[in-house]
Amino acid sequence: MESPPRAWAEIDLGALRHNLRVAREASGTPCMAVVKANAYGHGLVEVARTLEAEGVAFLGVANAGEARVLAQAGAKTPIYLLGPSLPEEQEEIVARGWVPCLSSLEEARRFDDLARAERTTLRVHLSVDTGMGRGGFLPNDAPTALDAIRTLPNLDVTGLGSHLPSADEDADFTRRQFELFDDLAGMLGASRPFQHIHLANSAGLLGFRSRTANLARPGLMLYGSSPLPAHQDRLQAVMTLKSRVSLIRELPPGHGVSYGRTFITERPTRVATIGIGYGDGYPRHLSGSGVEVLIRGARCPLLGRVTMDQIMADVTDLPDCKVDDEVELFGARIPVAEIAGKAGTIPWEIFTRVTERVARVYS
Ligand SMILES: *Cc1c(COP(=O)(O)O)cnc(C)c1O
Repeated sequence: MESPPRAWAEIDLGALRHNLRVAREASGTPCMAVVKANAYGHGLVEVARTLEAEGVAFLGVANAGEARVLAQAGAKTPIYLLGPSLPEEQEEIVARGWVPCLSSLEEARRFDDLARAERTTLRVHLSVDTGMGRGGFLPNDAPTALDAIRTLPNLDVTGLGSHLPSADEDADFTRRQFELFDDLAGMLGASRPFQHIHLANSAGLLGFRSRTANLARPGLMLYGSSPLPAHQDRLQAVMTLKSRVSLIRELPPGHGVSYGRTFITERPTRVATIGIGYGDGYPRHLSGSGVEVLIRGARCPLLGRVTMDQIMADVTDLPDCKVDDEVELFGARIPVAEIAGKAGTIPWEIFTRVTERVARVYS
């Protein structure tokens, strides 16, 4: 008989479907579901299958390796590459008909050559840099670049995209960015309209409205965390990270707990040892942060530092707590944003750092 894992992530696919509906309602458009980085740690294939069954317009990935996993799993939804393509990836992209975004004429010419060699026409999107500074043509260069790319016979420019650097931090800048993008989309699409026009990530689609976009690119919100706190109540957590109590002991006052002895008991303390640590992706930066774990519905404070495989929590006020009790680290009842804040990072990173040792359990 196989023993169950010490740490696991319960993935609620019903919550994922709910969050997609919220994204569609909020944006008023179809969605490209962003499933890069193993679907933000939730499991690329299972998440993509669920979203594909809901009829998303595209699956958005970071690189050819992720696109290949989707293709090999039988995905039929068009696959979009969210960033510039490496030269070594381009042949596979053309052969498979994945949709790249273009940030340079060099990329465009190479794709055109490869598509000609394959006797095919590759659909591509033009990327414009309206403020992110990571990729795309600058607005002033975009008209000439688009004209040049449209002369390449084996490319078909079917879309226009841009990205938002601070939709959850700077509303004034973001409003100006939407204006700039909508003006550009109107101008660049005047003679030949784009089939797909997209700008908004989760924060963009929740907080702003485009005049021209007909596609949104939600990532984080699909997984149940809103980058804009005002919209958190509309979403449902998809991942709940769990472990179990492996040991309970009584420590006398004046006893240190964990590496560095940063916590010393002040009273007789019942200490639960729990089978999860930074080796599972529970951030070591939570050490000394005042973070709590949930046992039997009660929040219990973390004691001392997070170790690689184990943490300790104070269960003095939870006399019923027993070995094998389930522990929630974050998810349905402890918001991931709270954990991210205490660890000095963002929910995106908390999700993507959950390691392979953590079994994903789907329901
Ligand atoms: C990751 C990514 C997204 C999704 O962003 P969220 O903030 O997670 O919604 C959208 N567009 C691009 C280009 C991205 O890289």
